[in-house]
Amino acid sequence: MPQSIAIIGSGFLGLTLALRLSEQGAKVTVFESAPEIGGLASSWKIGDVVWDRHYHVTLLSDSFTRKVVEEIGLGDEFEWVETKTGFYTGGKLVSMSNALEFLKFPPLGLVSKFRLGATIFYASRVKDWKALEKIPVADWLIKLSGKKTFEKVWRPLLKAKLGEAYRETSAAFIWATIQRMYAARKSGMKKEMFGYVRGGYARVLGRFEKVLRERGVEIRLNSPVSKVEKLKNGLIGISTITARTAIPAVETVGAEALHTRNDLPGHGNSTLTLDRDEFDSVVLTCPADIAAKIVPQLTTEEKRKLENVKYQGIVCASVLLKKSLSEFYVTNIIDETPFTGIVEMSALVDKKAFGGNALVYLPKYVTPDDELFERSDAEIEELFLDALEKMYPHFSRTDVEAFRVSRVKKVFPLPVLNYSGSLPSIETSVEGVIVVNSAHIVNGTLNVNETVRLAENFYADHCSPDARG
Ligand SMILES: Cc1cc2nc3c(=O)[nH]c(=O)nc-3n(C[C@H](O)[C@H](O)[C@H](O)COP(=O)(O)OP(=O)(O)OC[C@H]3O[C@@H](n4cnc5c(N)ncnc54)[C@H](O)[C@@H]3O)c2cc1C
Repeated sequence: MPQSIAIIGSGFLGLTLALRLSEQGAKVTVFESAPEIGGLASSWKIGDVVWDRHYHVTLLSDSFTRKVVEEIGLGDEFEWVETKTGFYTGGKLVSMSNALEFLKFPPLGLVSKFRLGATIFYASRVKDWKALEKIPVADWLIKLSGKKTFEKVWRPLLKAKLGEAYRETSAAFIWATIQRMYAARKSGMKKEMFGYVRGGYARVLGRFEKVLRERGVEIRLNSPVSKVEKLKNGLIGISTITARTAIPAVETVGAEALHTRNDLPGHGNSTLTLDRDEFDSVVLTCPADIAAKIVPQLTTEEKRKLENVKYQGIVCASVLLKKSLSEFYVTNIIDETPFTGIVEMSALVDKKAFGGNALVYLPKYVTPDDELFERSDAEIEELFLDALEKMYPHFSRTDVEAFRVSRVKKVFPLPVLNYSGSLPSIETSVEGVIVVNSAHIVNGTLNVNETVRLAENFYADHCSPDARG
């Protein structure tokens, strides 16, 4: 009898594992709480356009992503585009896409610029990332770049992604970020080449789902797992809450989707039923604290380690506009604005994909308890569009075709000091129950390539015929 394996979560981690395990002959069932697969990389509709809920690009150096996309038959569908980067500083938008523009960069003098360049070059050469985990990122950057450059460039950039939590973050975070950008430039002949699959992640995920179903993988959507337990018969019981009638669409994924559904009884017409299935083993790819909650047989120490993983969340608006904002794919923001960056997807993807419109993302990275999560879509729209009006003189609200807000409370674990030393282990004390998720990415930033790499390494080390001897 083939081994029966349940995978909780249909993000790229769960999907890649499902692919490998089904290739090996296992009977795989994927449980997903959301109405669609893909997790953070899933797609949605904005106006008449279907595109990624969160901005996504692939780098030329993303060999793991490219391999899996190739395997599902879409390798020839990548478009590679040379993009430009902007900075919004001192109330002005400036280009920072080549060495000459770097030399003209207004907020810094020549010496500071030299130190900034030297810091980036030095970070790209460092190999011992573990040593960097012991150093606060601010201390490391001030030492290498100087206080002025830290205040004018590094701190705003750190705050854009980490908020005030940059104070607890180790230098390994900025090292991993620089390594990724450097690798991209190296393989792109010093040019910033970014890629996407024609049709976006909707197309990739649609094909992924088809390939998995053809291989016999069962994918259960709208199925939040509420309990995982080792049974007396030696199997693992998986309890799911299933909505028997159509449930309202939720605009969140992961933990939020689960909580939204748990709140449903008594609200609306849906009837929720509790189902239980049995498997030989289960792999949880959901956020760490959810794993702690739904596997009650874990030890107190295991739960403590899982609950201790601190996450950064995001409120990310997608805006469909009649006109472009700028020529930049990414605009880093040094000034104070309500969002922490601007990503103009239509500077990368042909506007034809968006019905001739521009597609712009306005992300704001925040801690899971930030008050922004409580604001309505209308309030966020007002706040963000007001800022765009101030930043871009040619921007007009009449250009806005559609505006949608995604809220996710747990996007990536904060790489705090000595992070890798406090990690929950992948194998648990409950035989047959495995917990592997983005918290186990220790020397990289969160991206699909690292996620697929984690899945491939986990499979090679724990499940492949070689690993099992
Ligand atoms: C704003 C943003 C921009 C990004 N940009 C890029 C980019 O440009 N390039 C790039 O490569 N990567 C990018 N990423 C990162 C990329 O999206 C992630 O690396 C990847 O999607 C993570 O996959 P995952 O499977 O680990 O997690 P997730 O995608 O979070 O998947 C976990 C899944 O588990 C499900 N789940 C949770 N609890 C339960 C439960 N109890 N029962 C059943 N299911 C459950 C969730 O619904 C979810 O589908 C970006 C991410 C964000 C948020």
